[in-house]
Amino acid sequence: MADTDLPFARIAIIGLGLIGSSIARAMRESMPDATITGYDIDPAVRARAREIGFAHEIVEDAARAVEGAQLVLFCVPVGAMNEAARAIATALPKDAVVSDVGSAKMAVAKALREALPDATIIPAHPVAGTENSGPDAGFASLFKGRWCILTPHEGASKQQVARLSDFWERLGARAETMDARHHDLVLAVTSHLPHLIAYTIVGTASDLEGVTEGEVIKYSAGGFRDFTRIAASDPVMWRDIFLNNREAVLDILQRFTEDLSLLQRAIRWGDGDTLFDLFTRTRAVRRSIVEQGQDDARPDFGRTH
Ligand code: NAP
Repeated sequence: MADTDLPFARIAIIGLGLIGSSIARAMRESMPDATITGYDIDPAVRARAREIGFAHEIVEDAARAVEGAQLVLFCVPVGAMNEAARAIATALPKDAVVSDVGSAKMAVAKALREALPDATIIPAHPVAGTENSGPDAGFASLFKGRWCILTPHEGASKQQVARLSDFWERLGARAETMDARHHDLVLAVTSHLPHLIAYTIVGTASDLEGVTEGEVIKYSAGGFRDFTRIAASDPVMWRDIFLNNREAVLDILQRFTEDLSLLQRAIRWGDGDTLFDLFTRTRAVRRSIVEQGQDDARPDFGRTH
């Protein structure tokens, strides 16, 4: 029997990489009666998306993708949101809800508002992903048990926010609403700074390869390897995140460098208590993440060797 209670019966997904294709795949499982139309600026991605078959139709032009859509979801890099929204502006149905999955919320809300001044826009960010990109990297269970943070503006319709939350919950996520500025600060700590650190460590180690004679790769299981997973993340996506969440990242980076200096000092002066106290506190943080079901409790993330 057809599901007549769907939050959105027709959805357009613009950008068919890791996140866009995962949404389509998850919808096919949890909302099989909804119709999905997809578009990507890259012809090779459109061709591949057709072959995989996660959408009902992949169209050749962005404006066509949104015809009759009740929800339009932008799943493109943060820096491409404005251009992607402009491309559909004339064809967007008046009653459609516009949303996105961008990792920085204040800048994306501004970019979408500028391109679509009369639209109902409810920005969102599924806090789920991997270091891979493209339509082959997506999978249906990506959002299961993960948070999706909605950042509606103050005057947004509660009913439409609830409708979008329902959509994400059906994909397996836990939906929460948050102020966009607060989102950007929280994510600067939990995601953007860790990526910056990983990019720095792997970059420094790679510069030192000459000195270490290839042993960085050989002995990478000592901890370095875990940073390389994060540092393998998509360069376009992460360039755009840092350029579009500049203020919060610089704020948190300032705090981080101060804390790093304190550790440097503790090591220099043989202050073992400071080191021990911090490492005890950080171990407890890891335990709470595992207890809250946000990571694998097995040693070494459950890797089989
Ligand atoms: P992705 O795999 O690289 O996919 C993005 C796709 O969008 C690419 O095929 C890209 O084509 C296409 N695109 C670029 N500009 C476009 C435009 N104007 N119109 C239509 N398509 C366009 O990236 P992703 O990992 O899915 O990330 C998408 C968004 O999700 C980003 O905003 C990111 O911040 C957010 N996000 C990512 C993660 C994660 O872990 N990956 C997690 C949560 C949220 P080209 O390659 O030709 O540019």
